Order: sequence, then structure tokens, then C-alpha cells
Amino acid sequence: MLYQRSSQLFAEAEKVIPGGVNSPVRAFKAVGGTPIFVKSAKGAYLYDEDGNRLIDYINSWGPMILGHAFEPVVESVIHRAKLGTSFGMPTALETEIAALSVAMVPNIDKIRFVNSGTEACMSAIRLARGFTKKDKIIKFAGCYHGHSDSFLIQAGSGAITFGTPNSPGVTAGTAKDTLLARYNDLDNVTSLIEANKNEIAAIIVEPVAGNMGCIPPSKGFLEGLRQLCTDNDILLIFDEVMTGFRLAKGGVQELYNITADIVCFGKVIGGGLPVGAFAARNEIMNYLAPLGPVYQAGTLSGNPLAMAAGLAMLKALNEDHTVFQRLEEKTAYLETGIRKVLTENKVTFTINRVGSMISVHFDANPVVDFQSAAKGDNETFKKFFHGLLKEGIYIAPSAYETWFITDALTFDDLDFTIRAIDKVSKTF
Ligand code: PMP
Repeated sequence: MLYQRSSQLFAEAEKVIPGGVNSPVRAFKAVGGTPIFVKSAKGAYLYDEDGNRLIDYINSWGPMILGHAFEPVVESVIHRAKLGTSFGMPTALETEIAALSVAMVPNIDKIRFVNSGTEACMSAIRLARGFTKKDKIIKFAGCYHGHSDSFLIQAGSGAITFGTPNSPGVTAGTAKDTLLARYNDLDNVTSLIEANKNEIAAIIVEPVAGNMGCIPPSKGFLEGLRQLCTDNDILLIFDEVMTGFRLAKGGVQELYNITADIVCFGKVIGGGLPVGAFAARNEIMNYLAPLGPVYQAGTLSGNPLAMAAGLAMLKALNEDHTVFQRLEEKTAYLETGIRKVLTENKVTFTINRVGSMISVHFDANPVVDFQSAAKGDNETFKKFFHGLLKEGIYIAPSAYETWFITDALTFDDLDFTIRAIDKVSKTF
């Protein structure tokens, strides 16, 4: 496959956009080469500016769970656009999507819509701090909660890929209020709580981590966090930006039957438009302006186009009683196929998977936290990435990212992908 036009477009973009991209994870810095410029997408496929068709395993980093240009979403957006694109005033649509979200997700009474996952997590910790009247938060190394200052401390995703897990520009004053723990290590969290008695407002966690590859919580980890939070008056924040409306209708709270105090959303909830949200029980949400003292706002928050897309997406997921089962079956099929060919080709690997989130790590050891995720063989990953690209398969251009499986994939697509992985892994 040729990527000539993408290369030209990238050269033009680099002149006027830093690094040629509006989000670093899109750059091919970690794998070499130039990013692919997309012209359009439909179902499970991307069509690029050179006329190539690629099977998409990233799906806009999660939102396109039912495929690209999903008809009900597209129709809804077109319909709403004709009625006006932004008012900065309330619409009935906002209440409709809020009520549906509250009905689908356990343990939340109210939800506030924002424009990105970053905003959702940033607002959630402000709310937690205001509510508990404490300043510090605990986050886990390798978890990513967006690019707001408090979270760029040993952050995952692009922050690790580009070697800046602790970004310059975050002041020492801000950084000192973010305590860092090891994912899946309850003893570590317990010691941090003991060393900072009555100072911790919240523990924020990706309840299934997706920003250092996919890392499932070990048995008892989330239950342990819940108990520690309850015992120490700390709020437990589930960052379900990736997992929300993906791993189950009600996210990880439903999947593992664990109650979080605040839940953050992004990606699927917006159906591919810029949407984030955070939600909690009344007592906490009523602490937000205009009811309470914690300020949070947004000119475009609850934007009608974004709400129309999100509502169409959530309705489709809510009304389809087998969608999460289909996603599980397709991803399990892919996992089994990849395991088979990589084993036959004597490749050293570990696969992690929860539902439709899956990652392949080129290391023999279990990948349970940031340190073990960082041990993967990047040279093999580069060959894997470029080999698959030549075969017409697009995975994220970084070893630290999860694949997001879409229901639009057919078993033929999956078989094609497994055959391509067989072919590519013979060349390692
Ligand atoms: N939290 C998690 C778990 C994420 O994966 C991401 C983005 N990948 C964010 C927060 C930030 O979301 P956004 O990129 O929409 O700001």
C-alpha cells in the first residue's frame, strides 16, 4: 500500500500544526513513518487520502463502538444541525440524554456534560476536593486521565509514548498534591493513605486500565480501593472514559459490581462528537454550581449536535440486548486467533483483554502495571505495526495503547486480521 498523499499532507500540516497533529497520539513518532490522513470511514473501515482501505482497530480511540458513520448517529446530527448548532441555553435533548445515562449506569443520580474526557476528570477532582475539603489525590502510574495539570504525573498513553509522563509546565505546587501509586498494588495505596492521614480527597483510577495497553484490575484490587475509600472518607473516582458504555451498559461498576462515588465518561457517550461527562449521587452533584459552591462551566457544554450524537449512540446500545455479548465473542475470537498464530510462530507475547478492549505485549511476563507494561519489546512492536499497516490493518501507533473492537467487524475481517498477524509475525 502506498501512503504518498498522506506523506504530502503531513509535510503541509507540519508547517502549521505542531508535529502536524492536533493530539500527539496520532503522530507516528514511536513507530516511525508518517501518520495516515483519513478521508472517510464507514463501519469497520477507514478510507485514506491515498485510496487505501484499512480495517480499523482504534475506532477514534473508542467512540465508534458500533462502527464509523453509524446511521442513527449521522441522521440525528444532520437533523439537529438544521435546527441550529449551538444556543448556550438549555434544550430538552440534554435532559433526555442525562436521564438515559442515569438509567443505564448504576449509582448515579445526576450527570453533568462537558466537552472531553479531560474536562470530565479535571472537574471530577475539583468536585471531590470541594466536597471533602481535602487537597490531595491518588492516581496510578500509567493511568491517563486527560491532559490537565494534576494528572500529568507518570501519565500513560501519549505521555509515556513520547517520554513526558511528567510534563514541563505543571508546577511543583500542583504536582505535590498528586500522590502516585502502583496499579494493582493495594499495599502501596494503604501506605500512601497512612502517610497522608485526612489529606486525601479522592482516588482516581481507570477501573480497567487502557492507557498502558489493557490491564485488568487484579482480583480484589477495586474492592480493596472501595473499602479503603469508605474507611478513610475518600471519594473513589472511576475514570470510565474508555470503559463506560463499552464493557457493559453500566460500565465497570456494573461489570464487577463495585460502587464508585464519581464516574467520568467520554468517548462512547458522545457517539464520536466531543463529549465528556461526570456523574455521582445527588449529595455530591448538588455541590456543583449553580446549586453549590464548586464552579464548573462551558459555553458549548451540552451542545445540541454532540447531545444528538450521544443520545443516538446510547439509545442504540440500550436497546440492543446482545451487543456487549457480540463484542465479547468477536474479541475473544480475535484473541484466540492471535494467540494461536503467535505461539506457532514462536513469538514471545502476552495478551491482556477485558471484553472489547485488548492489547498485545511483546514480553513473556504478566503485564499488571506500568513497570511491567514498559518492558515490552518496542522493536518487535514497530515491525508488527508496520507489517499490519501494509496488510491494510490499522492499530494504534504505540505499544502502550489498547485496541478498541467495534461491532461492525465481521468474522471475515477477524480471520483476515489473524492471517495477516500470522504472516507478519513470521518476519520478526
Ligand atoms: N481518561 C481516560 C481513561 C482516557 O483514556 C482519556 C483519553 N484517551 C481521557 C481521560 C481524556 O479524554 P479526552 O482525550 O477526551 O480529553
